[in-house]
Amino acid sequence: RKKIGVLTSGGDAPGMNACVRAVVRYGITKGCDIFAIYEGYQGLVDGGSFIKKMEWKDVRGWLAVGGTSIGTARCMPFKTREGRLQAAQNLISNGIDALIVCGGDGSLTGADVFRSEWPGLLKELKENGRVSQEECDKFQHLTIVGLVGSIDNDMSSTDITIGAVTSLHRICESVDSISSTALSHSRAFVVEVMGRHCGWLALMAGIATGADFVFIPERPPSEDDWEQVMCDVAQRHRHLGKRKTVIIVAEGAIDKNLNAIKADYIKDILTDKLGLDTRVTTLGHTQRGGSPAAYDRILATIQSVEAVEAVLRATPDSPSPLIGTSNNKITCGPLMKAVELTHAVAEAISQKNFARAMELRDPQFAD
Ligand code: ADP
Repeated sequence: RKKIGVLTSGGDAPGMNACVRAVVRYGITKGCDIFAIYEGYQGLVDGGSFIKKMEWKDVRGWLAVGGTSIGTARCMPFKTREGRLQAAQNLISNGIDALIVCGGDGSLTGADVFRSEWPGLLKELKENGRVSQEECDKFQHLTIVGLVGSIDNDMSSTDITIGAVTSLHRICESVDSISSTALSHSRAFVVEVMGRHCGWLALMAGIATGADFVFIPERPPSEDDWEQVMCDVAQRHRHLGKRKTVIIVAEGAIDKNLNAIKADYIKDILTDKLGLDTRVTTLGHTQRGGSPAAYDRILATIQSVEAVEAVLRATPDSPSPLIGTSNNKITCGPLMKAVELTHAVAEAISQKNFARAMELRDPQFAD
């Protein structure tokens, strides 16, 4: 019987529970034993009760639950070899030789590091008498399959990440609520949204709510006097009869010299230049919470089914796969290629090559 571990890691995302549920249930139907690893890599390092065999009933009702019920954590020990050595021992003692990891690029990089080190870890455990020769022979390879759980939609090689659509919807609801009060008082609102170094949530929220102006990291305003340009746009909309002004700022927004653009700075400009009664709203963690949208439940379910299939067909020589989505089809491509492309976006931004950043991020929105 194939024994597969499943864990959620990094920032929580709505839909992670649907992943775990689908891995557990599809895995069981394929004759596998599925183990939930609680608290991300921390549970892998700590072992014991953090690694639990899952039954069909254990994930009942999980589709509708936000966050991740098996917990997630940022785990420093897993970044060290000693931590990964302990993690390897815990996997072997539970008989697990395959891991499905649902997380962001950091978590997936960690998984790939773990797999590439596996033969060395095994050797060291054997030399230290922590595993037997028989176990060494049995657990020669570690299979890793990645699923991208991230509200930011910041992973290359996939159109959409698990949790992003729910978060976007939450942002839209919040901006709609703000709009009522903005309209009543004829106010301006500067809304800061999450996304780390990715502008997807801000850009899509801008389109979905009809914001006046959006600031994202991948395409900073090109004008030296962008403050004036923004004011002109807001003013023009006001002259057309609009009673509210909504500016959406990604938390990673920058100007073309890579300086952060902060919501408070924009507020001061709108107040000083246009005399608008302006408020700042930082949406914060409400963006991550709540029940997953139907789309995220479905995406997580069908990607997780594919993840189990990918485990079952993996060979020792094939690179670790990442399950993604492209043109509405589930994809299965090399995990580290996707991580490298994701890092290339940050690299392009740091070199002020914004056209390249946009193209890498999403060709659909490139010039
Ligand atoms: P995300 O997966 O959302 O990008 P992080 O970057 O915080 O989040 O990564 C989550 C966890 O993954 C880290 O706390 C650490 O345990 C593990 N991790 C990240 N990068 C590495 C790495 N290069 N090597 C080993 N483990 C890593």
